[in-house]
Amino acid sequence: ASKEVFAFNSLVTDSLRLIHDQRLFMNVEVVKVLTDDELLVRADKNQICQVVINLIMNAVDAMEEKGVLTLATAKDEGTGTAILTVTDTGGGILQENLSKIFDPFFTTKDLGKGTGLGLSMAYGVMEENQGVIYVKETGLDGTSFALELPYVSVSS
Ligand code: ADP
Ligand code: MG
Repeated sequence: ASKEVFAFNSLVTDSLRLIHDQRLFMNVEVVKVLTDDELLVRADKNQICQVVINLIMNAVDAMEEKGVLTLATAKDEGTGTAILTVTDTGGGILQENLSKIFDPFFTTKDLGKGTGLGLSMAYGVMEENQGVIYVKETGLDGTSFALELPYVSVSS
């Protein structure tokens, strides 16, 4: 991994720009909620961006191309982490599948539509970057995934 220091919020804007160019979600309303603070993280930006794009594509799949996608950043000063949540209004993850979604090749999608590798790769990438990925909430109203990375303190 080639790590660099970058603005955490740029993960949201960059991933959305990349995915928008591909016109993947014409009927999805996108809501961005970004921290006012200039949060900096040290990580492999391209890798993390791919993780975010994977989460967005899963969210769009779950909403069957129609719904609300919310990308939000936050700062947790207690733990020193920058948190990005990707929330959809899809059908949620079944309780019995929750322990399997990060396993390689686990998919509930039709043959040819999912490889089941997205979340397992995401898990590995976050680990390599001293971060974590987890399901924050899931239910009939939708799902929220969270990514956390330690933020870099800027001394003034
Ligand atoms: P794939 O997208 O190829 O199926 P992933 O590793 O990205 O593989 O996801 C694994 C499984 O986790 C999906 O098949 C789906 O069952 C579940 N999943 C992931 N994200 C969501 C989501 N936002 N809403 C509902 N289910 C999800
Ligand atoms: Mg996927």
